[in-house]
Amino acid sequence: MLDLHGIDNVVLEARSRDYVEHRQRAGLIEQATVNFLAELGVDERLRREGLVHGGIELRFDGRGHRIAMDELTGGRTVTIYAQTEIVKDLIAARLQRGGPLLFDTEALALGDIDGERPRVRACGSEGEFDLECELIAACDGFHGIGRPGMPPALLRSAGHSYPYAWLGILAEAPPSCDELIYCHSDRGFALHSMRSPEVSRLYLQVAPDARIEDWSDQRIWEELHLRLAQDGWSLTEGPVLEKGITPMRSFVAWPMRHGRLFLAGDAAHIVPPTGAKGLNLAAWDVHILGEAILASFEQGNDSLLDAYSDTCLCRVWRAQDFSYWMTTMLHAEPEDPGGYSRRLQLARLAYVCSSESAARSLAENYVGIERI
Ligand SMILES: Cc1cc2nc3c(=O)[nH]c(=O)nc-3n(C[C@H](O)[C@H](O)[C@H](O)COP(=O)(O)OP(=O)(O)OC[C@H]3O[C@@H](n4cnc5c(N)ncnc54)[C@H](O)[C@@H]3O)c2cc1C
Repeated sequence: MLDLHGIDNVVLEARSRDYVEHRQRAGLIEQATVNFLAELGVDERLRREGLVHGGIELRFDGRGHRIAMDELTGGRTVTIYAQTEIVKDLIAARLQRGGPLLFDTEALALGDIDGERPRVRACGSEGEFDLECELIAACDGFHGIGRPGMPPALLRSAGHSYPYAWLGILAEAPPSCDELIYCHSDRGFALHSMRSPEVSRLYLQVAPDARIEDWSDQRIWEELHLRLAQDGWSLTEGPVLEKGITPMRSFVAWPMRHGRLFLAGDAAHIVPPTGAKGLNLAAWDVHILGEAILASFEQGNDSLLDAYSDTCLCRVWRAQDFSYWMTTMLHAEPEDPGGYSRRLQLARLAYVCSSESAARSLAENYVGIERI
């Protein structure tokens, strides 16, 4: 975004190009993110290869119920396109324009974020160096140095840990469904998703301390068959290309700005992946930040920079609520005396599938509320 407007900027990335282009993560893109990528001119492959979905299936008690998101939201849809592919497209566009994109270069410390010329101390292939700039966008994820670089007395945070994790596999198998299946079962949650017409992405709820060594490919497929079972439907298996376990966590830190330091994406907030909001929120933050930087640099108007944190946090908390709601509706609670939580979940699911206004609320949040 800054490149397109001729504003000098340097991107530091601690890992290698190969690593970031192959790190499996999100895969569901909201319309607003698609539009943003189009605005940046990096949507050509996404338009060609992305799979546009107008609905999802909620499966519980062994039966599927379609939520027609497009009909419920005036024609809005989501697109299945892997985060790895977005990263590849953004890197290719950046290298083509020639702006500095330094891989294997780690930001070590931030300095003078209250002053006019904040600094980043970084270490790359040629040793340590200082970068002096006008502002710093810390898009460095949950474990980066951006958030710890905020004054401790100012930064507040709140969060929630869930008593479960997701085991995800990427399988060389044609998807067994046209749209995503979110499945509630007494054995735990399962999600059937896809990356392309040839590759499926599947998830299982597992214990938070589960070890990937204990989950052979055969055990994973057996469990997926049991949880996703529905009369007349079958799951296609294929070689497992990759598998991993992701913890489930909700977290927000605020304010998202102090002085000349701005936090964006996972650096400031984490959602459990059930609502597919992590990547979309990160894209939203940088879109808002990009517009604010342009207004400041091109028109001398700092009001959008001043409003950045509050503007982002409105959407962040909406996504937090939706992600928590989806997660707690669909995952089996490990401690559930008498099955109270399970029955509440089934009552919620039945309501969402029988009331148009309840379904619309899910659909509107899932495809992404337009402007908050
Ligand atoms: C295993 C996993 C699975 C996920 N699945 C989903 C999903 O299915 N759906 C969904 O919506 N979301 C999912 N997410 C969340 C989603 O991927 C994130 O919300 C999204 O990547 C956030 O983007 P980001 O740019 O803020 O952070 P990141 O993608 O984490 O990018 C931060 C980058 O900063 C780099 N970095 C860190 N520290 C430094 C430093 N000191 N110096 C230089 N560079 C640094 C890192 O190497 C990294 O490349 C998943 C996340 C994980 C970890």
